[in-house]
Amino acid sequence: MYQSTASLSRMAQAVAELSDAHCHLNLFDDPKAAVADAMAHGMKVILATGGSGKDNLQVSELTAEEIVFGIVGIAPDFAHSDARSVSSLHALVKANKKIVGIGEIGLDFKIAKTPSDIDVQREVFERQLALAGELELPVVIHSRGGFDEIMRLLDKHKMKRVMFHFFEGNGSDAIEVEKRGYIISVPPVENSKRREAIRAIDVKNIVVETDSPVVGKTPLDVKRSLEMISKIKDIGVEELAQTTTDTLREFFYI
Ligand SMILES: [Zn+2]
Repeated sequence: MYQSTASLSRMAQAVAELSDAHCHLNLFDDPKAAVADAMAHGMKVILATGGSGKDNLQVSELTAEEIVFGIVGIAPDFAHSDARSVSSLHALVKANKKIVGIGEIGLDFKIAKTPSDIDVQREVFERQLALAGELELPVVIHSRGGFDEIMRLLDKHKMKRVMFHFFEGNGSDAIEVEKRGYIISVPPVENSKRREAIRAIDVKNIVVETDSPVVGKTPLDVKRSLEMISKIKDIGVEELAQTTTDTLREFFYI
């Protein structure tokens, strides 16, 4: 009896602690089943991320799941339609201790059709940077084609805790992020620019994500991100899983 308990706990220790730094859990057909399956395979933390007023409410509800923490915000794609929802974020955060960040927020030059579209995105983004500052919460950044402008605005608002979701920058961009004490999140999509970014910075400033179900299929696809980093950094997948999970916990105070 004693022996079997001991060997069971050894087995439990051998399972790496996985975490998914960016998941659209509310978009799954059955979010609870996705969480249960991930937990059964070693998942310890999922950051469920919002983006619209409706998503944010669903994310807040999903934090009832033990390993799920919420990130709420108005994403660039909803800057026009949901700008008014920015004012309800404060109450949403105050009502739920498991909401641990504002996101995903930022600028998306690919969806902007006119310069005034970017002006609207920028205004919504800056209002949320101010809110995150006031609430002393980290921000989760969505950036497509807007890296320099986003860095300028993060500096302007003196942001201290910033995670770049689906980091698309090159090596020198990654170094700029690292210099400020920010972190990058690596999706399960490999390309030469991403390899360069991973190579350029300390592994302690990297976390992993799936952006599922949009990009990865389930939170467990973080394994593909871990395998990519493992090859570049020459660190075992198990150790990397632990390092990235530790970084995520320290960064979001969870
Ligand atoms: Zn996303």
